[in-house]
Amino acid sequence: MPALKLENVYKSFGSVEVLKDINLTVEDGDFVVFVGPSGCGKSTLLRVIAGLEDATKGDVFIGGEQVNDIPPSRRGIAMVFQSYALYPHLSVKANMSLGLKQEKQPKDLIESRVQKASEILSLNEYLDRHPAELSGGQRQRVAIGRAIVREPKLFLFDEPLSNLDAALRMNTRIEIAELHRTLSASMVYVTHDQTEAMTLADKIVVLRDGRIEQVGSPMELYNNPANQFVAGFLGSPA
Ligand code: ADP
Ligand code: MG
Repeated sequence: MPALKLENVYKSFGSVEVLKDINLTVEDGDFVVFVGPSGCGKSTLLRVIAGLEDATKGDVFIGGEQVNDIPPSRRGIAMVFQSYALYPHLSVKANMSLGLKQEKQPKDLIESRVQKASEILSLNEYLDRHPAELSGGQRQRVAIGRAIVREPKLFLFDEPLSNLDAALRMNTRIEIAELHRTLSASMVYVTHDQTEAMTLADKIVVLRDGRIEQVGSPMELYNNPANQFVAGFLGSPA
């Protein structure tokens, strides 16, 4: 059963069509990266997968189930954004617990999930701090922790590293790769950064102006870009 399947997905805002006939399968456990220039529809596509936007046409399947009419909270996904969107008045622990509390999960389950996530992310020492007392990288780890505790089948990342400086970006990228191995969850990851795409992806999806231009492994795209556009993004100079 694929983790995610998109069939003939279109999305318009008013008369502007921003996603055009998107067809894509993400196999269970895959790390799939969407790349493409600013405005090509990457975030919109993630939001359609998450259910934050409705597709104008087409079908979204998660774990084999058609989820077009299922709200984000019941899609079995968790999303990590570029801006951390942590609650400043809540501790790290409370920020990480919030989603599970809203789902009315039992206290001991919440406790053990937060414990496990904070070990994975090396946040144990910071659980009682507030976001303002953390570095940018630590805040982003809390945001990732908030996603992990829900134990989603599918993680959606929207440029999660773009607010971090270069060194931290590399560390956090390595952590996300480790996380993927540890959790063996499926991940869909949006970036406009070539290095992130090449190092993280099992499969890269190149988007251009709302369409899929090419799909392949990093090496396939690098060695055999379908056209100048893909070559310009990822390919060898030839
Ligand atoms: P990316 O994430 O690749 O930079 P987006 O998905 O954010 O691109 O945007 C794709 C296009 O859709 C852009 O032209 C953007 O202006 C437009 N768009 C995105 N969200 C909305 C919205 N809520 N209403 C109208 N237009 C939107
Ligand atoms: Mg975007």
